[in-house]
Amino acid sequence: MDNLLQMRSYFDSGVTKPYSFRKEQLKKLQAAVKKHETAIHEALYTDLKKSPEECWVTETGFLLSEISFTLKNLKNWMQHELISTNLLNIPSKSFVMQEPLGMVLIISPWNYPFQLLMTPLAGAMAAGNCVVLKSSEFAPATSAVMKQMIEETFDRNYIQFVEGDGATVIPEMMNQFTFDHVFYTGSTAVGKIIYKMAAERLVPVTLELGGKSPCVVEADANIKIAAKRIVMTKFSNAGQMCVAPDYVLVHESVKEALVLEMKKVILKFFGEHPEASYSYGRIINEKQFDRLSGYLQQANIVHGGNTEKGNLFIEPTIMDGINLESDLMKEEIFGPILPVLSFNSKAAALKIMALNKNPLAFYVFTSSAATEKDWLNSVAFGGGCVNNASWHLTNHHLPFGGRGFSGTGQYHGKYSFETFSHKKSVMKTPTWFDPAIKYPPFKGKLKLFKMVIK
Ligand code: NAD
Repeated sequence: MDNLLQMRSYFDSGVTKPYSFRKEQLKKLQAAVKKHETAIHEALYTDLKKSPEECWVTETGFLLSEISFTLKNLKNWMQHELISTNLLNIPSKSFVMQEPLGMVLIISPWNYPFQLLMTPLAGAMAAGNCVVLKSSEFAPATSAVMKQMIEETFDRNYIQFVEGDGATVIPEMMNQFTFDHVFYTGSTAVGKIIYKMAAERLVPVTLELGGKSPCVVEADANIKIAAKRIVMTKFSNAGQMCVAPDYVLVHESVKEALVLEMKKVILKFFGEHPEASYSYGRIINEKQFDRLSGYLQQANIVHGGNTEKGNLFIEPTIMDGINLESDLMKEEIFGPILPVLSFNSKAAALKIMALNKNPLAFYVFTSSAATEKDWLNSVAFGGGCVNNASWHLTNHHLPFGGRGFSGTGQYHGKYSFETFSHKKSVMKTPTWFDPAIKYPPFKGKLKLFKMVIK
Protein backbone atom coordinates (compact mmCIF):
# COMPACT_ATOMS: atom_id res chain seq x y z
CA MET A 1 0.00 0.00 0.00
CA ASP A 2 2.83 2.44 0.90
CA ASN A 3 4.41 1.81 -2.46
CA LEU A 4 1.11 2.68 -4.18
CA LEU A 5 0.86 5.91 -2.20
CA GLN A 6 4.42 6.79 -3.20
CA MET A 7 3.51 6.14 -6.80
CA ARG A 8 0.50 8.43 -6.41
CA SER A 9 2.77 11.26 -5.18
CA TYR A 10 5.10 10.63 -8.10
CA PHE A 11 2.23 10.92 -10.54
CA ASP A 12 0.84 14.00 -8.82
CA SER A 13 4.22 15.72 -9.17
CA GLY A 14 3.46 15.91 -12.91
CA VAL A 15 6.75 14.37 -13.96
CA THR A 16 5.14 11.80 -16.30
CA LYS A 17 3.10 14.33 -18.27
CA PRO A 18 5.52 16.06 -20.69
CA TYR A 19 6.04 14.64 -24.15
CA SER A 20 9.80 14.50 -23.56
CA PHE A 21 9.37 12.18 -20.53
CA ARG A 22 6.94 9.85 -22.31
CA LYS A 23 9.17 9.62 -25.37
CA GLU A 24 12.30 8.93 -23.33
CA GLN A 25 10.58 6.18 -21.30
CA LEU A 26 9.13 4.50 -24.39
CA LYS A 27 12.62 4.48 -25.89
CA LYS A 28 13.92 2.88 -22.72
CA LEU A 29 11.28 0.17 -23.00
CA GLN A 30 12.21 -0.37 -26.65
CA ALA A 31 15.91 -0.71 -25.77
CA ALA A 32 15.16 -3.04 -22.84
CA VAL A 33 13.11 -5.40 -25.03
CA LYS A 34 15.93 -5.52 -27.58
CA LYS A 35 18.48 -6.15 -24.84
CA HIS A 36 16.45 -8.98 -23.29
CA GLU A 37 15.09 -10.43 -26.53
CA THR A 38 16.90 -13.77 -26.27
CA ALA A 39 16.02 -14.21 -22.59
CA ILE A 40 12.37 -13.39 -23.33
CA HIS A 41 12.24 -15.93 -26.17
CA GLU A 42 13.90 -18.57 -24.00
CA ALA A 43 11.40 -17.94 -21.23
CA LEU A 44 8.50 -18.19 -23.66
CA TYR A 45 9.94 -21.48 -24.86
CA THR A 46 10.07 -22.71 -21.26
CA ASP A 47 6.47 -21.71 -20.61
CA LEU A 48 4.82 -22.53 -23.93
CA LYS A 49 7.42 -24.16 -26.25
CA LYS A 50 7.09 -21.38 -28.80
CA SER A 51 9.77 -20.99 -31.47
CA PRO A 52 11.70 -17.70 -31.59
CA GLU A 53 10.00 -16.97 -34.92
CA GLU A 54 6.53 -17.30 -33.40
CA CYS A 55 7.68 -15.28 -30.37
CA TRP A 56 8.83 -12.49 -32.64
CA VAL A 57 5.60 -12.27 -34.62
CA THR A 58 3.24 -12.56 -31.65
CA GLU A 59 5.19 -11.20 -28.70
CA THR A 60 8.47 -9.21 -28.93
CA GLY A 61 8.28 -7.99 -32.55
CA PHE A 62 4.60 -7.24 -32.06
CA LEU A 63 5.43 -4.96 -29.12
CA LEU A 64 8.40 -3.29 -30.81
CA SER A 65 6.26 -2.46 -33.82
CA GLU A 66 3.60 -0.99 -31.50
CA ILE A 67 6.23 1.14 -29.72
CA SER A 68 7.71 2.43 -33.01
CA PHE A 69 4.25 3.35 -34.27
CA THR A 70 3.49 5.11 -30.97
CA LEU A 71 6.77 7.04 -30.98
CA LYS A 72 6.10 8.19 -34.54
CA ASN A 73 2.64 9.51 -33.71
CA LEU A 74 2.70 10.45 -30.03
CA LYS A 75 3.38 14.16 -30.45
CA ASN A 76 0.48 14.44 -32.82
CA TRP A 77 -1.88 12.42 -30.57
CA MET A 78 -1.05 14.69 -27.63
CA GLN A 79 -2.08 17.89 -29.41
CA HIS A 80 -5.23 19.64 -28.26
CA GLU A 81 -8.01 18.79 -30.65
CA LEU A 82 -9.79 21.92 -31.87
CA ILE A 83 -13.54 21.42 -31.92
CA SER A 84 -16.19 23.61 -33.53
CA THR A 85 -18.43 25.70 -31.28
CA ASN A 86 -22.21 25.87 -31.55
CA LEU A 87 -24.15 29.05 -32.28
CA LEU A 88 -25.22 29.47 -28.63
CA ASN A 89 -21.61 29.80 -27.49
CA ILE A 90 -20.02 31.80 -30.31
CA PRO A 91 -17.49 33.51 -30.13
CA SER A 92 -16.08 30.97 -27.61
CA LYS A 93 -13.46 28.48 -28.75
CA SER A 94 -13.60 24.77 -27.87
CA PHE A 95 -10.94 22.11 -27.62
CA VAL A 96 -10.24 18.69 -26.12
CA MET A 97 -7.12 18.01 -24.04
CA GLN A 98 -5.79 14.47 -23.68
CA GLU A 99 -4.92 14.02 -20.03
CA PRO A 100 -3.27 10.98 -18.35
CA LEU A 101 -5.68 8.99 -16.19
CA GLY A 102 -3.18 8.64 -13.33
CA MET A 103 -2.38 5.24 -11.85
CA VAL A 104 -3.28 2.28 -13.96
CA LEU A 105 -3.36 -1.42 -13.04
CA ILE A 106 -2.68 -3.79 -15.94
CA ILE A 107 -3.45 -7.49 -15.43
CA SER A 108 -2.50 -10.11 -18.00
CA PRO A 109 -3.05 -13.84 -18.69
CA TRP A 110 -0.57 -16.58 -19.55
CA ASN A 111 -1.20 -17.31 -23.22
CA TYR A 112 0.81 -14.39 -24.67
CA PRO A 113 2.36 -13.55 -21.33
CA PHE A 114 4.78 -10.93 -22.65
CA GLN A 115 2.79 -9.13 -25.31
CA LEU A 116 -0.47 -8.94 -23.37
CA LEU A 117 1.24 -7.17 -20.47
CA MET A 118 3.68 -5.01 -22.42
CA THR A 119 1.42 -3.74 -25.23
CA PRO A 120 -1.07 -2.09 -22.85
CA LEU A 121 1.94 -0.84 -20.86
CA ALA A 122 3.25 1.00 -23.94
CA GLY A 123 -0.17 2.64 -24.38
CA ALA A 124 -0.39 3.62 -20.72
CA MET A 125 3.14 5.10 -20.82
CA ALA A 126 2.38 7.00 -24.03
CA ALA A 127 -0.64 8.53 -22.30
CA GLY A 128 1.55 9.69 -19.36
CA ASN A 129 0.38 7.31 -16.61
CA CYS A 130 2.08 5.46 -13.78
CA VAL A 131 1.55 1.72 -14.04
CA VAL A 132 1.29 -1.34 -11.81
CA LEU A 133 1.86 -4.50 -13.85
CA LYS A 134 0.42 -7.84 -12.72
CA SER A 135 1.71 -10.80 -14.73
CA SER A 136 0.14 -14.26 -14.84
CA GLU A 137 1.45 -16.77 -12.32
CA PHE A 138 0.96 -19.53 -14.91
CA ALA A 139 3.82 -18.37 -17.16
CA PRO A 140 6.50 -18.05 -14.44
CA ALA A 141 9.61 -18.03 -16.64
CA THR A 142 8.32 -15.13 -18.78
CA SER A 143 7.12 -13.33 -15.67
CA ALA A 144 10.61 -13.54 -14.10
CA VAL A 145 12.31 -12.07 -17.18
CA MET A 146 9.76 -9.27 -17.49
CA LYS A 147 10.14 -8.42 -13.79
CA GLN A 148 13.90 -8.16 -14.13
CA MET A 149 13.61 -6.09 -17.31
CA ILE A 150 11.08 -3.65 -15.84
CA GLU A 151 12.83 -3.25 -12.49
CA GLU A 152 16.24 -2.57 -13.99
CA THR A 153 14.80 -0.10 -16.52
CA PHE A 154 12.26 2.03 -14.65
CA ASP A 155 11.87 3.93 -11.40
CA ARG A 156 9.64 1.89 -9.06
CA ASN A 157 7.49 4.96 -8.48
CA TYR A 158 6.75 5.02 -12.20
CA ILE A 159 6.27 1.34 -13.04
CA GLN A 160 5.90 -1.48 -10.54
CA PHE A 161 5.86 -5.18 -11.24
CA VAL A 162 3.68 -7.46 -9.12
CA GLU A 163 3.72 -11.26 -9.24
CA GLY A 164 1.72 -13.92 -7.40
CA ASP A 165 -1.64 -15.60 -7.15
CA GLY A 166 -4.11 -13.21 -8.81
CA ALA A 167 -6.97 -14.24 -6.52
CA THR A 168 -4.90 -12.96 -3.57
CA VAL A 169 -2.76 -10.06 -4.72
CA ILE A 170 -5.30 -8.33 -6.97
CA PRO A 171 -8.10 -8.00 -4.38
CA GLU A 172 -5.46 -6.86 -1.88
CA MET A 173 -4.60 -3.95 -4.15
CA MET A 174 -8.02 -3.15 -5.62
CA ASN A 175 -9.92 -3.29 -2.33
CA GLN A 176 -7.53 -0.95 -0.55
CA PHE A 177 -6.50 1.50 -3.19
CA THR A 178 -8.39 3.49 -5.81
CA PHE A 179 -6.69 3.09 -9.16
CA ASP A 180 -7.66 5.45 -11.97
CA HIS A 181 -8.14 2.61 -14.44
CA VAL A 182 -7.89 -1.18 -14.53
CA PHE A 183 -6.98 -2.88 -17.78
CA TYR A 184 -7.68 -6.62 -17.53
CA THR A 185 -7.01 -9.36 -20.09
CA GLY A 186 -8.16 -12.88 -19.26
CA SER A 187 -11.19 -15.08 -18.82
CA THR A 188 -14.75 -13.81 -18.71
CA ALA A 189 -15.24 -15.41 -15.26
CA VAL A 190 -12.35 -13.46 -13.66
CA GLY A 191 -13.32 -10.39 -15.70
CA LYS A 192 -16.60 -10.28 -13.77
CA ILE A 193 -14.71 -10.36 -10.44
CA ILE A 194 -12.47 -7.50 -11.57
CA TYR A 195 -15.47 -5.49 -12.80
CA LYS A 196 -17.23 -5.89 -9.43
CA MET A 197 -14.17 -4.84 -7.43
CA ALA A 198 -13.68 -1.83 -9.71
CA ALA A 199 -17.34 -0.85 -9.38
CA GLU A 200 -17.00 -0.59 -5.58
CA ARG A 201 -14.63 2.36 -6.09
CA LEU A 202 -16.08 3.55 -9.42
CA VAL A 203 -12.85 2.71 -11.20
CA PRO A 204 -13.22 2.57 -15.00
CA VAL A 205 -12.14 -0.67 -16.66
CA THR A 206 -11.09 -2.11 -19.94
CA LEU A 207 -11.92 -5.81 -20.12
CA GLU A 208 -10.28 -7.90 -22.82
CA LEU A 209 -12.04 -11.24 -22.38
CA GLY A 210 -12.53 -14.47 -24.27
CA GLY A 211 -15.40 -16.38 -25.80
CA LYS A 212 -16.19 -18.72 -28.64
CA SER A 213 -15.20 -17.13 -31.94
CA PRO A 214 -17.02 -18.74 -34.88
CA CYS A 215 -15.51 -19.21 -38.30
CA VAL A 216 -18.01 -19.47 -41.15
CA VAL A 217 -16.98 -21.11 -44.41
CA GLU A 218 -19.52 -20.47 -47.15
CA ALA A 219 -20.22 -22.72 -50.13
CA ASP A 220 -18.46 -20.26 -52.46
CA ALA A 221 -15.27 -19.94 -50.34
CA ASN A 222 -11.81 -20.69 -51.69
CA ILE A 223 -11.45 -23.94 -49.74
CA LYS A 224 -7.68 -24.33 -50.07
CA ILE A 225 -7.07 -20.83 -48.74
CA ALA A 226 -9.69 -21.20 -46.00
CA ALA A 227 -8.14 -24.47 -44.79
CA LYS A 228 -4.63 -22.98 -44.73
CA ARG A 229 -5.62 -19.83 -42.88
CA ILE A 230 -7.89 -21.56 -40.35
CA VAL A 231 -5.29 -24.21 -39.51
CA MET A 232 -2.55 -21.59 -39.26
CA THR A 233 -4.22 -19.59 -36.51
CA LYS A 234 -6.24 -22.33 -34.82
CA PHE A 235 -3.10 -24.32 -34.02
CA SER A 236 -0.73 -21.41 -33.43
CA ASN A 237 0.36 -21.38 -29.74
CA ALA A 238 -1.39 -24.81 -29.59
CA GLY A 239 -4.74 -23.07 -29.95
CA GLN A 240 -4.28 -20.98 -26.80
CA MET A 241 -5.15 -17.74 -28.54
CA CYS A 242 -8.11 -15.54 -27.62
CA VAL A 243 -8.93 -14.82 -31.27
CA ALA A 244 -8.34 -18.34 -32.61
CA PRO A 245 -11.33 -19.70 -34.53
CA ASP A 246 -13.08 -21.65 -31.75
CA TYR A 247 -15.23 -23.72 -34.09
CA VAL A 248 -15.94 -23.90 -37.81
CA LEU A 249 -19.42 -23.58 -39.29
CA VAL A 250 -19.13 -24.79 -42.86
CA HIS A 251 -21.79 -24.98 -45.55
CA GLU A 252 -22.78 -28.65 -45.80
CA SER A 253 -21.96 -28.76 -49.55
CA VAL A 254 -18.24 -28.11 -48.86
CA LYS A 255 -17.74 -29.69 -45.45
CA GLU A 256 -16.03 -32.83 -46.72
CA ALA A 257 -13.71 -30.85 -48.98
CA LEU A 258 -12.76 -28.45 -46.16
CA VAL A 259 -12.04 -31.21 -43.64
CA LEU A 260 -9.94 -33.10 -46.20
CA GLU A 261 -7.97 -29.96 -47.03
CA MET A 262 -7.45 -29.04 -43.36
CA LYS A 263 -6.06 -32.53 -42.66
CA LYS A 264 -3.58 -32.09 -45.54
CA VAL A 265 -2.55 -28.67 -44.27
CA ILE A 266 -2.01 -29.93 -40.70
CA LEU A 267 0.33 -32.60 -42.05
CA LYS A 268 2.13 -30.06 -44.21
CA PHE A 269 2.59 -27.56 -41.37
CA PHE A 270 3.45 -29.91 -38.49
CA GLY A 271 4.42 -33.23 -40.15
CA GLU A 272 3.40 -36.80 -39.31
CA HIS A 273 4.74 -36.30 -35.78
CA PRO A 274 3.59 -32.90 -34.52
CA GLU A 275 5.05 -33.77 -31.11
CA ALA A 276 8.46 -33.35 -32.76
CA SER A 277 7.57 -30.23 -34.77
CA TYR A 278 9.64 -27.07 -34.29
CA SER A 279 6.51 -25.03 -35.05
CA TYR A 280 4.07 -26.61 -32.62
CA GLY A 281 3.63 -25.52 -29.00
CA ARG A 282 2.49 -27.13 -25.75
CA ILE A 283 -0.40 -26.70 -23.33
CA ILE A 284 0.46 -24.36 -20.48
CA ASN A 285 -0.16 -26.73 -17.54
CA GLU A 286 -1.81 -29.97 -16.37
CA LYS A 287 -5.04 -28.27 -15.37
CA GLN A 288 -5.56 -26.95 -18.91
CA PHE A 289 -4.34 -30.27 -20.38
CA ASP A 290 -6.96 -32.21 -18.38
CA ARG A 291 -9.73 -29.78 -19.33
CA LEU A 292 -8.84 -30.06 -23.03
CA SER A 293 -8.42 -33.85 -22.91
CA GLY A 294 -11.98 -34.05 -21.60
CA TYR A 295 -13.28 -32.42 -24.81
CA LEU A 296 -11.75 -35.24 -26.86
CA GLN A 297 -14.38 -37.62 -25.43
CA GLN A 298 -17.30 -35.41 -26.43
CA ALA A 299 -17.45 -35.89 -30.24
CA ASN A 300 -15.88 -37.86 -33.13
CA ILE A 301 -12.21 -37.35 -33.81
CA VAL A 302 -11.68 -37.03 -37.56
CA HIS A 303 -8.03 -36.04 -37.29
CA GLY A 304 -5.43 -36.12 -34.51
CA GLY A 305 -6.58 -36.77 -30.97
CA ASN A 306 -3.26 -38.08 -29.60
CA THR A 307 -2.09 -36.71 -26.29
CA GLU A 308 0.96 -37.03 -24.03
CA LYS A 309 0.38 -35.71 -20.54
CA GLY A 310 4.05 -35.80 -19.53
CA ASN A 311 4.86 -33.39 -22.37
CA LEU A 312 1.62 -31.41 -22.12
CA PHE A 313 1.13 -32.30 -25.79
CA ILE A 314 -2.22 -32.41 -27.57
CA GLU A 315 -2.14 -33.14 -31.27
CA PRO A 316 -3.85 -30.69 -33.67
CA THR A 317 -7.32 -32.23 -33.67
CA ILE A 318 -10.45 -31.91 -35.82
CA MET A 319 -13.78 -33.18 -34.48
CA ASP A 320 -17.26 -33.62 -35.93
CA GLY A 321 -20.59 -35.08 -34.83
CA ILE A 322 -20.78 -32.22 -32.34
CA ASN A 323 -23.46 -32.11 -29.66
CA LEU A 324 -24.54 -28.50 -29.09
CA GLU A 325 -25.24 -29.32 -25.44
CA SER A 326 -21.69 -30.55 -24.75
CA ASP A 327 -19.06 -28.49 -22.90
CA LEU A 328 -17.13 -28.47 -26.16
CA MET A 329 -19.78 -26.10 -27.52
CA LYS A 330 -20.61 -24.31 -24.27
CA GLU A 331 -17.11 -23.33 -23.12
CA GLU A 332 -14.30 -21.50 -24.89
CA ILE A 333 -11.97 -24.29 -26.10
CA PHE A 334 -8.68 -22.36 -25.92
CA GLY A 335 -6.63 -25.28 -27.19
CA PRO A 336 -5.82 -27.25 -30.37
CA ILE A 337 -9.24 -28.85 -30.85
CA LEU A 338 -11.39 -27.71 -33.76
CA PRO A 339 -15.06 -28.73 -33.88
CA VAL A 340 -16.51 -28.64 -37.39
CA LEU A 341 -20.26 -28.15 -37.68
CA SER A 342 -22.20 -27.83 -40.92
CA PHE A 343 -25.14 -25.59 -41.84
CA ASN A 344 -27.58 -25.51 -44.73
CA SER A 345 -29.02 -22.04 -44.14
CA LYS A 346 -27.77 -18.83 -42.65
CA ALA A 347 -30.59 -18.91 -40.11
CA ALA A 348 -29.44 -22.33 -38.86
CA ALA A 349 -25.85 -21.09 -38.51
CA LEU A 350 -26.97 -17.97 -36.64
CA LYS A 351 -28.95 -20.13 -34.23
CA ILE A 352 -25.78 -22.03 -33.31
CA MET A 353 -23.82 -18.81 -32.87
CA ALA A 354 -26.56 -17.35 -30.69
CA LEU A 355 -25.73 -19.99 -28.06
CA ASN A 356 -22.56 -18.01 -27.30
CA LYS A 357 -23.29 -14.31 -27.77
CA ASN A 358 -20.86 -11.48 -28.55
CA PRO A 359 -17.82 -13.44 -29.72
CA LEU A 360 -14.49 -11.66 -29.43
CA ALA A 361 -13.88 -12.46 -33.10
CA PHE A 362 -15.82 -13.61 -36.14
CA TYR A 363 -14.46 -14.90 -39.43
CA VAL A 364 -16.18 -15.52 -42.73
CA PHE A 365 -14.73 -17.13 -45.83
CA THR A 366 -16.64 -16.32 -49.02
CA SER A 367 -15.97 -15.02 -52.52
CA SER A 368 -19.19 -13.01 -52.68
CA ALA A 369 -19.22 -9.36 -51.59
CA ALA A 370 -22.96 -9.57 -50.87
CA THR A 371 -22.57 -12.67 -48.66
CA GLU A 372 -19.68 -11.03 -46.83
CA LYS A 373 -21.72 -7.89 -46.14
CA ASP A 374 -24.68 -9.94 -45.03
CA TRP A 375 -22.60 -11.88 -42.48
CA LEU A 376 -20.77 -8.83 -41.16
CA ASN A 377 -24.11 -7.12 -40.55
CA SER A 378 -25.71 -10.15 -38.90
CA VAL A 379 -23.27 -11.00 -36.10
CA ALA A 380 -22.44 -8.79 -33.09
CA PHE A 381 -18.71 -9.43 -32.59
CA GLY A 382 -15.62 -7.57 -31.31
CA GLY A 383 -13.47 -7.67 -34.46
CA GLY A 384 -12.76 -10.08 -37.24
CA CYS A 385 -11.66 -10.93 -40.75
CA VAL A 386 -13.02 -11.78 -44.17
CA ASN A 387 -11.16 -14.65 -45.85
CA ASN A 388 -8.69 -14.69 -42.99
CA ALA A 389 -8.56 -15.47 -39.28
CA SER A 390 -7.02 -13.66 -36.30
CA TRP A 391 -4.66 -11.38 -38.24
CA HIS A 392 -6.82 -8.29 -37.67
CA LEU A 393 -5.23 -7.98 -34.25
CA THR A 394 -1.79 -7.41 -35.77
CA ASN A 395 -2.88 -4.23 -37.57
CA HIS A 396 -2.19 -1.44 -35.07
CA HIS A 397 -4.37 0.94 -37.07
CA LEU A 398 -7.42 -1.11 -36.05
CA PRO A 399 -9.00 -0.96 -32.57
CA PHE A 400 -8.85 -4.33 -30.80
CA GLY A 401 -11.40 -5.46 -28.22
CA GLY A 402 -14.59 -7.35 -27.55
CA ARG A 403 -18.16 -6.43 -26.78
CA GLY A 404 -20.49 -7.56 -24.02
CA PHE A 405 -19.42 -11.02 -22.88
CA SER A 406 -16.10 -10.74 -24.74
CA GLY A 407 -15.13 -7.44 -23.18
CA THR A 408 -15.48 -3.71 -23.05
CA GLY A 409 -13.15 -1.05 -24.46
CA GLN A 410 -10.39 -1.38 -27.01
CA TYR A 411 -6.68 -0.74 -27.55
CA HIS A 412 -3.68 -0.93 -29.95
CA GLY A 413 -2.03 2.08 -31.58
CA LYS A 414 -3.95 5.32 -31.15
CA TYR A 415 -6.79 3.46 -29.41
CA SER A 416 -4.40 2.50 -26.58
CA PHE A 417 -3.42 6.13 -26.16
CA GLU A 418 -7.10 7.08 -26.01
CA THR A 419 -7.99 4.26 -23.60
CA PHE A 420 -5.39 5.48 -21.12
CA SER A 421 -6.18 9.20 -21.57
CA HIS A 422 -9.07 11.29 -20.36
CA LYS A 423 -10.62 13.58 -22.95
CA LYS A 424 -10.92 16.85 -21.08
CA SER A 425 -13.34 19.24 -22.78
CA VAL A 426 -12.61 22.95 -22.50
CA MET A 427 -14.47 26.02 -23.74
CA LYS A 428 -12.68 29.35 -23.73
CA THR A 429 -14.90 32.42 -23.85
CA PRO A 430 -13.63 35.92 -24.65
CA THR A 431 -14.57 38.77 -22.32
CA TRP A 432 -15.05 41.46 -24.99
CA PHE A 433 -18.49 40.07 -25.94
CA ASP A 434 -21.05 39.58 -23.18
CA PRO A 435 -24.65 39.91 -24.46
CA ALA A 436 -27.34 40.61 -21.81
CA ILE A 437 -29.63 38.02 -23.44
CA LYS A 438 -27.67 35.23 -21.72
CA TYR A 439 -28.48 36.47 -18.23
CA PRO A 440 -31.67 36.72 -16.16
CA PRO A 441 -34.26 38.05 -16.20
CA PHE A 442 -35.32 35.65 -18.96
CA LYS A 443 -38.92 36.77 -19.31
CA GLY A 444 -39.78 37.45 -22.99
CA LYS A 445 -36.60 35.81 -24.36
CA LEU A 446 -38.13 32.40 -25.27
CA LYS A 447 -38.59 33.23 -28.97
CA LEU A 448 -34.97 34.27 -29.26
CA PHE A 449 -33.77 31.14 -27.39
CA LYS A 450 -35.79 29.02 -29.81
CA MET A 451 -34.02 30.69 -32.73
CA VAL A 452 -30.57 30.05 -31.27
CA ILE A 453 -31.09 26.60 -29.71
CA LYS A 454 -32.62 24.29 -32.35
P1 NAD B 1 -5.11 -16.33 -16.06
O1 NAD B 1 -5.62 -17.50 -15.28
O2 NAD B 1 -3.64 -16.14 -16.19
O3 NAD B 1 -5.79 -15.06 -15.41
C1 NAD B 1 -5.58 -13.75 -15.89
C2 NAD B 1 -5.14 -12.86 -14.77
O4 NAD B 1 -6.16 -12.80 -13.78
C3 NAD B 1 -3.88 -13.37 -14.09
O5 NAD B 1 -2.98 -12.30 -13.92
C4 NAD B 1 -4.39 -13.91 -12.77
O6 NAD B 1 -3.43 -13.77 -11.75
C5 NAD B 1 -5.59 -13.05 -12.51
N1 NAD B 1 -6.60 -13.70 -11.66
C6 NAD B 1 -6.93 -15.01 -11.67
N2 NAD B 1 -7.92 -15.24 -10.76
C7 NAD B 1 -8.21 -14.06 -10.20
C8 NAD B 1 -9.15 -13.64 -9.20
N3 NAD B 1 -9.98 -14.50 -8.62
N4 NAD B 1 -9.18 -12.34 -8.87
C9 NAD B 1 -8.36 -11.47 -9.46
N5 NAD B 1 -7.45 -11.80 -10.41
C10 NAD B 1 -7.37 -13.08 -10.78
O7 NAD B 1 -5.60 -16.36 -17.50
P2 NAD B 1 -6.92 -16.92 -18.03
O8 NAD B 1 -8.02 -16.13 -17.43
O9 NAD B 1 -6.97 -18.38 -17.99
O10 NAD B 1 -6.70 -16.48 -19.58
C11 NAD B 1 -7.32 -17.10 -20.58
C12 NAD B 1 -8.53 -16.31 -21.01
O11 NAD B 1 -8.12 -15.03 -21.41
C13 NAD B 1 -9.26 -16.90 -22.19
O12 NAD B 1 -10.63 -16.81 -21.95
C14 NAD B 1 -8.87 -15.99 -23.34
O13 NAD B 1 -9.81 -15.91 -24.37
C15 NAD B 1 -8.73 -14.69 -22.63
N6 NAD B 1 -7.84 -13.82 -23.38
C16 NAD B 1 -8.37 -12.70 -23.93
C17 NAD B 1 -7.55 -11.88 -24.67
C18 NAD B 1 -8.08 -10.63 -25.32
O14 NAD B 1 -7.26 -9.86 -25.79
N7 NAD B 1 -9.38 -10.39 -25.34
C19 NAD B 1 -6.21 -12.21 -24.84
C20 NAD B 1 -5.72 -13.37 -24.26
C21 NAD B 1 -6.55 -14.15 -23.52
